[in-house]
Amino acid sequence: MKAAVFYQPHVPVSIEELEIQPPQAGEVLLDIVGAGVCHSDYHAVDGHIKREPTPWVMGHEGAGIVREVGPGVTSVAPGDKIILSLDAMCGYCRNCSNGSPALCETHPPGPVSRMTKDGEPVYHGRPTFVEQTIVHADACVKVPDDTPLEQTCLISCAVITGIGAVVNRAKVEVGASMAVFGCGGVGLNAIQGGVLASAGKIIAVDRVPYKLELAEQMGATHFINAAKENPVQRIQEITGGGADYAFEVVGFPALARQAIDSVRPTGTAVVVGVQPTDEEISVEGWHLLLDRTLMGAFHGAARARVDFLWLLDLYNQGKIKLDELISRYRPLDELNEAFNDMNQGKVARTVLVFE
Ligand SMILES: [Zn+2]
Ligand SMILES: [Zn+2]
Repeated sequence: MKAAVFYQPHVPVSIEELEIQPPQAGEVLLDIVGAGVCHSDYHAVDGHIKREPTPWVMGHEGAGIVREVGPGVTSVAPGDKIILSLDAMCGYCRNCSNGSPALCETHPPGPVSRMTKDGEPVYHGRPTFVEQTIVHADACVKVPDDTPLEQTCLISCAVITGIGAVVNRAKVEVGASMAVFGCGGVGLNAIQGGVLASAGKIIAVDRVPYKLELAEQMGATHFINAAKENPVQRIQEITGGGADYAFEVVGFPALARQAIDSVRPTGTAVVVGVQPTDEEISVEGWHLLLDRTLMGAFHGAARARVDFLWLLDLYNQGKIKLDELISRYRPLDELNEAFNDMNQGKVARTVLVFE
């Protein structure tokens, strides 16, 4: 089966034939139908994060159909439609029991090796840039048979990460003001989260005019082109002293600092973007001391088996937008082109589709 394999940074990803093993106890073999190209996949390619061990099979956002289940799996069966979660919740560990299954301690997302290249092991978490994948059954969220997986695969990461950061983690109140730094796939969903939460002002910050247009489509109310204006100063002006919430959705310490600096006393800055390996975020002590909160939000604090289903309901009712987020569909062979489109700010999301 065909898969996208990462070897080292700054080298195009290679599309190769791999062998895949049958699922072991508790595992599921899926045929992938749709896989969203997320910036965090590219973060390995541009060296923003260290991806080890290699060779590494790529992708983490996706949906598919169960082909085969391993011994002991009763929660899903062949033919079931699945939106894949990058977290697999065991339901029993401390974090699962405390209501934070996105940080399940029992099923970390790899590395494992259920795939080989010419008999040699390749490594992966829960890859989706593959014709077939093997995942823990606890990472599978079963959805109704009439669910269109080419669109709803976005729920797997971009949608829950953005909306979840706003409604699950920060718990933005009705009428609150919020700023979103970075209007890519996840940031646009943070904006949708603000709309769902009935935030008063939703301020979109980006350097690419096209992204700010998308932000308007998603429901943002104010727009700051950070290439032309100082976002911290503008947010303070728009909100009269600082936003109640600011979300950093790009993954740069300097932007996280801007998010922190743009919230008012009692406000909350939320780090959502994947930060570079081994780098620190700076905070001015006195700024934080005035009852400000700095928090992280991993995968939208997802409770996947609950959240994916209500997100699907909202999509079916037209209350959240997914089709508008998908700028382009491409085959797996065009992954590197999809990365280029993303880097040039030409797309909100590309979805890889499989026959
Ligand atoms: Zn992602
Ligand atoms: Zn757990």
